[in-house]
Formats: sequence, structure tokens, C-alpha cells
Amino acid sequence: RAKKKGRNQYEKAKADVNAGGFEKLLLENNLRRALERDELTLYFQPQVDLKTNQIKSLEALIRWNHPDLGLISPGDFIPIAEESGLIVPIGDWVLRTACIKMKEWQNAGYPPVRIAVNLSAGQFLKSDLVKKVKTILEETGLAPSYLELEITENMVMHDVHLAIQVLRQLKEIGIQISIDDFGTGYSSLNYLKEFPVDTLKIDRSFIRDIDKNPSSVALTKAITTLAHDLNLKVIAEGVENFKQLSVVKQHSCDAVQGFYFSRPLSYENVVHYLNDHDQKVSGND
Ligand code: C2E
Ligand code: MG
Ligand code: MG
Ligand code: MG
Repeated sequence: RAKKKGRNQYEKAKADVNAGGFEKLLLENNLRRALERDELTLYFQPQVDLKTNQIKSLEALIRWNHPDLGLISPGDFIPIAEESGLIVPIGDWVLRTACIKMKEWQNAGYPPVRIAVNLSAGQFLKSDLVKKVKTILEETGLAPSYLELEITENMVMHDVHLAIQVLRQLKEIGIQISIDDFGTGYSSLNYLKEFPVDTLKIDRSFIRDIDKNPSSVALTKAITTLAHDLNLKVIAEGVENFKQLSVVKQHSCDAVQGFYFSRPLSYENVVHYLNDHDQKVSGND
């Protein structure tokens, strides 16, 4: 009953996020304390390489484990974090925690895969980002080649020249860069060749109806061809069933992420998943 009441309050607070006002302020204060009270947690979703069938990366996805309301999705609190500036300390926590966990799995002997971390605009455009990433890698001991940062088109288009500089510095450290939700933002194809990125992640909205909608197939084909011509890899996001998997395979996507292979997993469940896939992942780079 308490949970139900909590849920209603939460739904109400959520409805007010756009409206602004008092409820939103409450949620923001709650979020500030969530960090101090250790209520934030990471889930991890495998990205599977279609050539080798091996896990190539795990994407870290944040959740808020609220004492009364249960697990809250990032879509419901990341916007508040971004607006309030809390995204900076939260983003630091995500990056550090993701690197620590990946290092733990590597130390435990699991075949090394990359950890992918989402960045918000508020983090990407801060002048100390590169230094911060370096420090966290040094402190956690994770090799830079095992870190992948996910940015979006709009983040780089905001200030193209600054973005290119930052991306170059990140590449110099030796980390990988992906463009998330590709196809939904507004990006200039002309600039794509100048961005030092490694991977395009085709947005889930194109994959969702790829087995029914010829224009989604056409877009997936076009993005894949473009990416390969520019020497980039392509991941299809949100692959939920075998049909979608077949279509993206047919159009030469390099990797997939989605419920078909696995939902985002808790820390403990990642270990089970890695154990089950031990055969498949062994020998991964
Ligand atoms: P994203 O980075 O595009 O992450 C993929 C989202 O798609 C995740 O939602 C994941 O659970 C969901 N997903 C994956 N496969 C499937 C599928 O087959 N079907 C369906 N229906 N959904 C699938 P999630 O975890 O709710 O995250 C939503 C967004 O929140 C992320 O989208 C990302 O933009 C943001 N986010 C998550 N964690 C962080 C974080 O640590 N920092 C920042 N700045 N943003 C984050
Ligand atoms: Mg992402
Ligand atoms: Mg995203
Ligand atoms: Mg995405």
C-alpha cells in the first residue's frame, strides 16, 4: 500500500516535471540526496558483435533505486539532473563506478570487454572533461582502450569546432567514441567525416518497425553504407526479436544491442551472463 501511494506521488511528480514548480523542486532535492545516500545504481546491457557472436561491450545505464518508489528509469530523472546541473556530479559517479566495475570483472578473470558510458551535453561541454576522464582512468586502473563514451549528434553540432577538439583529445587518450541514437538528432553529414568517432548507434526507432517498414530498412541500409565508407562501425539499438536481428544482419550491421540478447542487467546478473557466455566471449580482444 505504501508502495502504491509512493508510486502515485511519483507519477504526480513526474507529470509535473514539464510543468515545473514545487513538485519538481522536491524531486530535484531528492535526487541531490540520492547521490549522497547511495541510491543510484548501474545496470549493464551487452552489445554483441555479429561476426563473432561475442560480447564486445557492456553499456552502463543508470537507475535510481528510490527507497519508497523502487527503481526509477533515467528518462524520468536525467532531464531534471541536466536542468539542475546535478548531471555533473551524477555523471562523474557513473563514469567512476562503470570503470571500477569493469576493472573488477577484468580482475576476476572475465575476458575483457569494453564499458560504454553515456555523456550528457552538460558534461561534454565542460572544459575539464578530458582531464576528468584521464584522472578516473588512472585512479581506477582501467586501460583507456576499454572505455567507450556515447555522445549524441546534437551535443557535437552545438559547437562543431569545440566538439572536434574535445573528441580528438579523448581519442588521444585511447578511448572509443560512439554516436548514440543516430538518425534522430540533427547532424550534418558533411561534418561526420571530420568527427573522430568509431561507431554509429542506429536509433531504436528505426529498428522497431524494420521488419514491416521499407523506409526503416532503407535508412538502416543508408546509415550502414555511409558508416562503412567512413570506416565506422554500426550498432543496431533495440533489437527485440529474431526478425529484426535477421534484417540488420542482412544489411551488414556490425553489432546489436537489445532485449533479444539481453535486457540491462544488475551487477550480479552480469556475472551470471558472462559465465553463461564464457565460451562465446573467450578470445575477445
Ligand atoms: P540510450 O543510451 O540510447 O540507452 C538505450 C536504452 O534503450 C536503454 O534505456 C535500454 O534499456 C533501452 N533498450 C535497449 N534495448 C532495448 C530493446 O530491445 N527494446 C526496448 N524497448 N528498449 C531497449 P534506459 O536504460 O531507460 O535509458 C534511457 C536513456 O537514458 C539512455 O538511452 C540514455 O540516453 C539515458 N541514460 C542512461 N544512463 C545514463 C547515464 O548514466 N548518463 C546519462 N547522461 N544518460 C543516461
Ligand atoms: Mg547510450
Ligand atoms: Mg541516448
Ligand atoms: Mg540510444
